[in-house]
Amino acid sequence: MFNALHVLTDELRRLKAAGVRTVDVSEDSLQALKSAVKVHIELRSQHGISVQNKENLEVLSTQDNSALTKPKQHVQFPVAPHFVITDGTKEERLAQLKKVMYEDPLCLANLKPGKQIVIGSGNLDAKIMFVGDAPGIEEELKGEPFVGPTGQLLDRMISGMGLTRSLVYIGSILSWRPEPLTNEMGEQATHRTPTPAELAYCMPYLKAQVDIVKPSLIVALGSSAALGLLGPGVFKSLGDIRGQWKEYCTIPLIVTYHPSYILRNPSNRSKRMIWDDFLKVMERAMLPISEKQKAYFLDK
Ligand code: URA
Repeated sequence: MFNALHVLTDELRRLKAAGVRTVDVSEDSLQALKSAVKVHIELRSQHGISVQNKENLEVLSTQDNSALTKPKQHVQFPVAPHFVITDGTKEERLAQLKKVMYEDPLCLANLKPGKQIVIGSGNLDAKIMFVGDAPGIEEELKGEPFVGPTGQLLDRMISGMGLTRSLVYIGSILSWRPEPLTNEMGEQATHRTPTPAELAYCMPYLKAQVDIVKPSLIVALGSSAALGLLGPGVFKSLGDIRGQWKEYCTIPLIVTYHPSYILRNPSNRSKRMIWDDFLKVMERAMLPISEKQKAYFLDK
């Protein structure tokens, strides 16, 4: 049904671009459209996405969207997956989770050929769990979060805390690399921010990892991780909540900027902003903090 809606929307856009201003719609087609839109609204509200003006849903909109980019491939999101992980060792439970994910048709539908579902990795007894944004090209190849250049930077930040990657757990808010947007010229971006529906769909997979690892602290890296973990409506911009302690399922959670922010803004000022939040994590985790660590990136 939704594919049909997308085909219809595309056709309406094409007609509009060709100068057509009105189309005749039979009463039956109108009724079919109305019930499809009703299901669309219900699905969106199940994912916590509000529809401000139901008359203005994209499919019936007369606004000009011709310059907008859109995902090359549309995948519709049913309600979040329900599954049960039975008792066992942490390793056994993670293996069960991987099996569930590899049997999920939607996860599989989002995998490109030769790519893997991205599942968290690290120490299953870690006290600190980092949660990143959507995986990138390197991550979908390896099936592990933070293995590309941003991952190397995260490794350096973790070692600045006096830890190693093998002592922490690193999860991913999304289980696959989101299909990047393509513009009207057919040029494809390298990255796409996950949609709220994608985040809502993948959350049970991350929650299962939180239940297995049972970290004492969670560090959300960037706005998608914060949105997925805290839910919609909690913050407008990341700056509003960055560095503040929140909770995810009663586990203390702190939000900070994504390490890629430093790759884009490699100044000591931006490094220090994230480092301030990492110091808060170290303090709460009761890790030793040296004078040298306290002073990192203070130079202008
Ligand atoms: N950025 C992320 O947030 N996660 C990854 O796995 C890679 C880059």
